[in-house]
Amino acid sequence: MKLNNEKDFIISKTPWTRWLSAILPNRCLLCHQHIDSVNRGICSVCLHACRYQTPICLGCGGEMLISMAFCGHCMASTPLTVIAPCSYHHGLGHWVGQVKYQAQFAVIDVLVDALVQRILYLEYLGFIQLPQALIAVPLHKSRLRQRGFNQAWLIAKALSKRLDIPLVDNMLFRMKETQPQAGLSGRLRRKNLKGAFELSPEFNWQRVALIDDVVTTGTTVEEIAKLLQRKHTQVQVWCLARAEAPGRR
Ligand SMILES: [Zn+2]
Ligand SMILES: [Zn+2]
Repeated sequence: MKLNNEKDFIISKTPWTRWLSAILPNRCLLCHQHIDSVNRGICSVCLHACRYQTPICLGCGGEMLISMAFCGHCMASTPLTVIAPCSYHHGLGHWVGQVKYQAQFAVIDVLVDALVQRILYLEYLGFIQLPQALIAVPLHKSRLRQRGFNQAWLIAKALSKRLDIPLVDNMLFRMKETQPQAGLSGRLRRKNLKGAFELSPEFNWQRVALIDDVVTTGTTVEEIAKLLQRKHTQVQVWCLARAEAPGRR
């Protein structure tokens, strides 16, 4: 079978997803049109418009003319691999980071589908190797109590089920309650996160994917990746939307 496009991958829905979808109003979040398809939350036209239309560099998120893992610039600098189905700057991306209630998560499920398709397509092309385990970017326990759920964990759980890769949620901890990163300069973001995360000494996976809802400056995932790389673990980052590195938009 020849697959020409990541959209050729058919993803089957879990019963849990179908149940959540069934209780949501069937209007598109972006264009407010009635949705006829099985997709809830986002119509297929808006979903298609939000997804990447060209090959994207796994390093900087910049558009490329031909399908390669990294652009010339990133091949030389070996940045962290970040996989997302769409850009943070187009339509849905920004919205994903704004979800505050668990009930809205069913809408995000459509993007989880798109992410799974993209991961499988990149693996098919030989650009990535699937990880042995998934790890969600943790929230501090007081933030978790306040919000009631960790969106990154919910996304990781859904990915774990779809891809049959274990979710490891007892190895990485957020020790410090950091102030929100938005509005801080690069130097202050790193300072804000210094010592914020701790990895269990028992951690011994060789290849993992770190899951977050959105990746904007990448400071948080880079900070965690440093901890994992110290253990000689290969890290890739999976998220529902990513911002392009500065100068690559
Ligand atoms: Zn729409
Ligand atoms: Zn690049």
